Amino acid sequence: MKPRQLAAAIAFGLTVCAAPAAELTRIPADALATAAQLRERAANDTAAYDFVAGLTTEVGQRLAGGANDQRGRDWVAARFKALGFDKVWTEPVTYPRWVRRAEHADIAAPFAQPLAVSALGNSPGTPKGGVRGEVVLFKDFKALQAASEASVKGRIVYIAYHMHAERDGHDYGPATAGRTGGPALAAKLGALAFVLRSAGSDSDRLPHTGVTAFPPKAPQVPAAALSNPDADLLERMIAGGKPVMLHLDLDCGIDGTFTGANVIGQVTGSEHPDEIIDIGGHLDSWDPGTGAIDDGAGVAIAAGAAHLISTLPQRPKRSIRVVAFANEEAGMIGGKAYAAAHKDEIAKHILGAESDFGAGRVWRLTSKVKPEALGAIDQIMQALGPLGVERGANGTAHGGDFGALGEAGMALLDLNQDGTRYFDWHHTANDTLDKIDAKDLNQNVAAYAVFAYLAAQAEGDFGSAPVATPPKKTE
Ligand SMILES: [Zn+2]
Repeated sequence: MKPRQLAAAIAFGLTVCAAPAAELTRIPADALATAAQLRERAANDTAAYDFVAGLTTEVGQRLAGGANDQRGRDWVAARFKALGFDKVWTEPVTYPRWVRRAEHADIAAPFAQPLAVSALGNSPGTPKGGVRGEVVLFKDFKALQAASEASVKGRIVYIAYHMHAERDGHDYGPATAGRTGGPALAAKLGALAFVLRSAGSDSDRLPHTGVTAFPPKAPQVPAAALSNPDADLLERMIAGGKPVMLHLDLDCGIDGTFTGANVIGQVTGSEHPDEIIDIGGHLDSWDPGTGAIDDGAGVAIAAGAAHLISTLPQRPKRSIRVVAFANEEAGMIGGKAYAAAHKDEIAKHILGAESDFGAGRVWRLTSKVKPEALGAIDQIMQALGPLGVERGANGTAHGGDFGALGEAGMALLDLNQDGTRYFDWHHTANDTLDKIDAKDLNQNVAAYAVFAYLAAQAEGDFGSAPVATPPKKTE
């Protein structure tokens, strides 16, 4: 550095030091006018619906590490290019490959009946021919945590937690506590196998799969979910007082590792191309359905919003990046890989939001931004007002797959969707395109286009604020 530059740098430094401590982030009036146009145009745009219709029709289910993992990525990369994004690339993500081959369960006694069952992700298989044992019922995961080894050993553990539908989906946490931690605990207590009432709010005879987890080198048991009507059937027999004998036969398990990728498309900024507004969804899905609401819709919403912004006469000041994450379902593995790959550029990741709660309308916006950016969030709220979005608390946004970057300091928004029916369908064979209402999907596109564009045009950044609650696990 030459002396004159040094002097200038010192002067600049002094200016910064002498300035008021908090520069307020503001959004210019012309940006708000453009955002209003984007919001109106989103209502009749077809890019997002065409995206999720195409993905679910031409690829279908996208189980991480399965035959459609690569096909799904190729499809999305090609569609990002067709949508006119300036840059499309992939970043590798490696994960264990879990394979589902066959699954069967039936009650052997006191009244023989077949059951609709789905193995949980990461579950090992049973020995050939299956396992047979007496069922021991626990009303929830807490009850299993309080159980003695003697009550469980040699039996098949069943958790009967009954999940209820709520707009914000808050009953999913208690429902998945048993799914995530129940099998490992049952194994530790000497159980033969583990089944649970589906973590879902429907009465269809379709089980909800989902991930479970075993600590490294800990004992494992085969684990599966029963559909809710089958759970009712099992519970009626248990209530009858006679021992209930279950036969569970699962052919599934971990088969090595697999390298997939996050697929990324970018509308590159005109003034600050290296500063990023991150939006996205996860590309993987469970295998019984076609991954329409979980989470083809989320990738489609983000892609539709970025596409809409790309059709403006001028590129936004900052870049809008759409990330289609790999393997969220087994524990946000793609999100963690994205954070690891970009942690050194954290100051350039201005704001992030993932859509991963189906295709219902956005009804609330929560945030995790610095206090100096709250005025800009108020401006974004004004632009979202006509969409019927209300303001939630600051400090409570989780960011989904962007949560790992959020923990490293990136500011986050959560655009909370109406999830009243989401848990009727997710992780089941009923996760199909017909569950998506094109108008509701476009309300999401409008909300993402509005906030992403305004954040890209904002003068100042969104910093970060402490997370008030620990990151929520949504899968
Ligand atoms: Zn999801």
